[in-house]
Amino acid sequence: MYVPGLPSPASGPFPCENSTLPFWRTELHELDSYRSTKQLPKSCDVLIIGGGYAGIAAAYHLLREDESSTSPKRSVVLAEAREACSGATGRNGGHLRPSVYSRLPRYIKQYGVEAAVEVAGLEFDHVQTIAALVKKENIDCDFTLTRSFDIYTDKTEAEAAKKSYEELKAAGIAKSTIDDLIWTDAEHAEEVSGVKGCVGCFTFTAAHLWPYKLFTHLLARAVSSGLNLQTHTPILSISPSSSSEKWTASTPRGLITSSKVIIATNGYTAGLLPEYTSKIVPSKGICCRIVPSSTSTHPNLTHTYCLRLPDGGFDYLIPRHDGSIIVGGARSTFFKEHENWYNTTDDSTLIKPAEKYFDNYMQRNFLGWEESGARVDQIWTGVMGYTSDSLPSIGEVPGRDGCFIAAGFVGHGMPVIWLTMKGIAEMVKEGKSFEEVRIPRIYKTTKERLESDLDLLGPVKKG
Ligand SMILES: Cc1cc2nc3c(=O)[nH]c(=O)nc-3n(C[C@H](O)[C@H](O)[C@H](O)COP(=O)(O)OP(=O)(O)OC[C@H]3O[C@@H](n4cnc5c(N)ncnc54)[C@H](O)[C@@H]3O)c2cc1C
Repeated sequence: MYVPGLPSPASGPFPCENSTLPFWRTELHELDSYRSTKQLPKSCDVLIIGGGYAGIAAAYHLLREDESSTSPKRSVVLAEAREACSGATGRNGGHLRPSVYSRLPRYIKQYGVEAAVEVAGLEFDHVQTIAALVKKENIDCDFTLTRSFDIYTDKTEAEAAKKSYEELKAAGIAKSTIDDLIWTDAEHAEEVSGVKGCVGCFTFTAAHLWPYKLFTHLLARAVSSGLNLQTHTPILSISPSSSSEKWTASTPRGLITSSKVIIATNGYTAGLLPEYTSKIVPSKGICCRIVPSSTSTHPNLTHTYCLRLPDGGFDYLIPRHDGSIIVGGARSTFFKEHENWYNTTDDSTLIKPAEKYFDNYMQRNFLGWEESGARVDQIWTGVMGYTSDSLPSIGEVPGRDGCFIAAGFVGHGMPVIWLTMKGIAEMVKEGKSFEEVRIPRIYKTTKERLESDLDLLGPVKKG
């Protein structure tokens, strides 16, 4: 399914039309379908492809933070196939939640302590960095600094989580991040968390926000700093150019050449870079907004949540100031059948087996919500970039000088992308190497990773 009236790209994933309407896109920004110039510029210094969190962060870091500089400004064009923030960024759970302790043991085992600590530190630092950014730019996006619950409902899993946390603490690893964690044992877990059947839980610092408002606001800042924004401008292909400028991108509106390209197309990356086919796979997720009845007297939720439920369920949830709840996940209903979600760019339909999952969700899972009358008010899907090794792909694309990628955020980009794109911007504008910027080493896109047979999604894929 492709943008109407446009030629289909030769191969690979591409954003579809008629996408489902997420709650976040019910109040549109004036830049939603904006084009800075009527004609697509014929050339620029940097072409950013993709108008979600990663593309917008790249534009901001390239232009906004350079405002006081006296050197000549780079010309930067951002091309977005659909509307601004119409991909995963405008359809996610609004959860800015570092995943620190749960991944550390695996990363330590696979990549060593230093590499693991880099990832944990980067995610942890995002919360305060975004808090400071929202303040500095005075952004009205419901940003709320809080703590998040990680809920366990299986005793064995809870014990394993507590044990690995104690081991990490004893080893003195990532002290600042690990010290932020507070564990509650089974005896008080239900009472502390408010979740039925909870047999152990962590809390740690996190935030929630209105992602569309945050990123369109930052986009507006980049536009006012000189960004040329071109929405409804799908890039159909990129190729090395014969002229002095290195890259030529083709669009239904003509060609554009640029010295550098930043591919910020997440799940859709293989549509432009075929070498990422089967490395970054478009994968569908589902989210909804739940509204309690106006007369309900249920307990107020002050924290955000991740619920590890029986049957492999893994849901995430944020409370909003208007009393509504945004919940995503529903994995237990559809994840085993890969045709429900794997290798699809179709965010125009729901995930059939998950459609009814969120009905009575709060009543089922939260103490005191039984009579809340909470009902699903809006439900939507979005496309994430799952990767064969579960890591994002960041840096200069092997064999493509001047072409940078930042994609494959595995449904967890909020505490990863901002600082990562700062690093990409430094590589692009200052010519720094990957090793000179602050991006976790294991995120580096390499020939070895592209050639690897590792496929962590494999068992799921085979159903
Ligand atoms: C349902 C759901 C819930 C999620 N919940 C959370 C959460 O709570 N917390 C969290 O951390 N993460 C969450 N995520 C993941 C998070 O939203 C992503 O990691 C993040 O938004 C990725 O940003 P991005 O800019 O890389 O991708 P996107 O926002 O998808 O942006 C890529 C853009 O590129 C455009 N594009 C693609 N191909 C082309 C082309 N050829 N030419 C021009 N433009 C193109 C697309 O239209 C799109 O706008 C969720 C994702 C989904 C789908």
